Amino acid sequence: MDTLTPKLETTLQEIRETGLWKGEREILGRQGSHVETAAGRSLNFCANNYLGLAGDPRPAEAAKAALDRWGFGMSSVRFICGTQDQHRALEREIAEFLGTEDSILFSSCFDANGGIFEALFGPGDAIVSDELNHASLIDGIRLCKAARHRYRNANLEDLRAKLTAAREAGADQVVIVTDGVFSMDGSYAPLPGICDLAEEFRALVMVDDSHATGFVGEGGRGTPELFGVRERVDILTGTLGKALGGASGGYVAAGQAIVDMLRQKARPYLFSNTLAPAVVAGSREALRIAAGAHAEREHLVRIAALFRERMGAAGFELLPGTHPIHAVMFPGEDGARTAGAVAARMLDLGVYVTAFSFPVVPRGKARIRVQLSAAHSEDDVLACVEAFTRARDGVSAT
Ligand SMILES: *Cc1c(COP(=O)(O)O)cnc(C)c1O
Repeated sequence: MDTLTPKLETTLQEIRETGLWKGEREILGRQGSHVETAAGRSLNFCANNYLGLAGDPRPAEAAKAALDRWGFGMSSVRFICGTQDQHRALEREIAEFLGTEDSILFSSCFDANGGIFEALFGPGDAIVSDELNHASLIDGIRLCKAARHRYRNANLEDLRAKLTAAREAGADQVVIVTDGVFSMDGSYAPLPGICDLAEEFRALVMVDDSHATGFVGEGGRGTPELFGVRERVDILTGTLGKALGGASGGYVAAGQAIVDMLRQKARPYLFSNTLAPAVVAGSREALRIAAGAHAEREHLVRIAALFRERMGAAGFELLPGTHPIHAVMFPGEDGARTAGAVAARMLDLGVYVTAFSFPVVPRGKARIRVQLSAAHSEDDVLACVEAFTRARDGVSAT
């Protein structure tokens, strides 16, 4: 007897009625600064395509060539017969780029974060984690038997309190875990302060730099480079699914013993296929381009400052910061409705942005998140500000 389906139907109806339904807009071509949808052609400000490489012909060409040379698939996990020399080459290139001894690929960063904790930490250890960390870190930590402590977002005082508690409970290895960038706010983790506390409490530091690798920091090496603490961060995780070509794949970059142990013990690595050959080749090309993308990074910094300045002048409230993620706030009780209405009007005006409200962000802190890309021109940014202004004025007039 099926009692599940009626229950699901009730819950699905509730999701619809409370306005929490996540629909999917179908894009009719390649990802880029502009996309084609059923609504027509629009400027796109909601991809994690920070360097514009997702729709760039160069990674695509590398992937096409790889199909001929390396074939379509592997039909095996890594340790049986699923490792090509290009997989190892990409791992070495990631490690070299980030300045670690080695790295290990996963089929996603979600899998990297899901597999790392159980493989490295056990009862007797303690994991001290930022409350706004990505869902995959939260899930990975849940799968592990170490003690768990959660500190308030980017709050060093609370982090100190949780580290003290972990040490007083007699923890063996303590590890501090944080996103490098908090993606709903576009804010950075306070890495220098975190590294100081790690030293004081003899803890390791692990940073998930998915929203930074490739474009944050002078050489694109992410938040540890931005804050000058690369040598003080022990474990980096990240994705190939955002700035680095945007296809799929994740990695852990760390010291040799950590990487070796993950190859032996991380379950998503052991029991799941790795990246498809074409994705490896395209990602290697994307990483090579990102390493030299100084002009693109400078352009991104410039247009981010331009967007902030013009939005401020137009009377919008933005969360402070310098990252290309911008949270345009619509505070208060009516904020969720207003943000949704403004985003919908903007699409009519040819500008694609996404509104977020509770439970994705705290109640009363609804926002439209704007993500800039090096593929955007200054005119694209000004068109976005113009659409924000017209949409807001239209919505407030109704
Ligand atoms: C996007 C993201 C992930 C997931 O990356 P995938 O490779 O798509 O699984 C993990 N952590 C953070 C912080 C992210 O932003």
